[in-house]
Amino acid sequence: MLEFRVDEAGPSGVEEKQRDFDLAIIGAGPAGLTAGLYGGRAQLSTVIFDRGTIGGQLTLTDRVDNYPGFPEGISAAELIHRFRKHAENFGARIVLEEIQKIEPLDDGTFHLWGLEKEPYHAKAVILAMGSRPRMLNVPGEKEFGGRGVSYCAVCDGPFFKDQPVAVVGGGDSAFEEGLYLSKIVSRVILIHRRDQFRAAPIFVEQARNNPKFEFVLNSVVEEIYGDSKVRGVRVRNLKTGEMKEIPVEAVFVFIGHIPNTDLVKGLVDLDEQGHVITDEHMRTSVPGIFAAGDLRNTPIRQVTTAAGDATIAVYTAQEYIREVETRLQKARTG
Ligand code: NAP
Repeated sequence: MLEFRVDEAGPSGVEEKQRDFDLAIIGAGPAGLTAGLYGGRAQLSTVIFDRGTIGGQLTLTDRVDNYPGFPEGISAAELIHRFRKHAENFGARIVLEEIQKIEPLDDGTFHLWGLEKEPYHAKAVILAMGSRPRMLNVPGEKEFGGRGVSYCAVCDGPFFKDQPVAVVGGGDSAFEEGLYLSKIVSRVILIHRRDQFRAAPIFVEQARNNPKFEFVLNSVVEEIYGDSKVRGVRVRNLKTGEMKEIPVEAVFVFIGHIPNTDLVKGLVDLDEQGHVITDEHMRTSVPGIFAAGDLRNTPIRQVTTAAGDATIAVYTAQEYIREVETRLQKARTG
């Protein structure tokens, strides 16, 4: 295995950017940062690439109350900070760069192309790009983006202090974020297309006992209307066909996620929804490429499962790296 190297000054005395790693991780959410921690701790030279904000979907939430070890809950920002610090303490390097292409090489290693002319090189790759919020795709949604339509309660909730807002969805996110919003806004109108919820019963119970919550069930949003900003939603009841207008100042959409797998379309096998298909060792269809976290075809998507996936992925990647190194060594010595 390569020794972990810090960027070294080249012959010109100018700092040369390290481009050669044992393990490259794409995405710095809970899965990617955990993989960084395990990779660094296994003394693999490890890089984590991210195109933007460290923390992935965790950056969109306020508190996490189901991560073990924090019985009183922990702020999402603090948890991200700890994940990052833990990975960096073990030597993983975070590089803010969007990887545009992964190119498998004949020797079983990989080139990773960012925006620069020269690629990065790694012996194994862990995909941890996570997912992004799904949109409603109704009139008004795009037009009022940033003017009342939001996919992040923590980011935008404070703008709607003491005002009525709609929350769309019936899963954990809709309830968790709706409960968060209820501490700020005057009313949370939860609009859901069924009368059954995917959300954990504890969330549903908390919402039912919360006087600020109102449920509009068996209903879908047909339109978001307003003037310079959102003024309400037009909702259709799926059982009766009845249409009604609900005046709100904001619409928070939490109707699931779309995996960020465009980078690997045509490279690794994906399921119908675009999730990366892996085996239980987190291997994808391409040897040397592994996947962890929300972009994987898994029924449960939690911070704990992302961390668990990443742990397994690094152990399997380590075996792969050893095999590649043995092969390369043999080829060198003839
Ligand atoms: P989700 O569990 O997939 O729920 C999506 C919700 O949106 C469902 O109620 C679904 O309705 C509804 N929906 C989907 N498409 C829709 C559309 N086009 N129009 C209207 N409604 C639509 O997504 P999520 O809540 O974002 O959660 C994602 C994952 O993260 C889950 O595994 C969840 O458990 C996890 N998570 C965990 C926590 C926590 O434990 N603290 C917090 C947040 C998220 P149907 O039910 O009718 O399909």
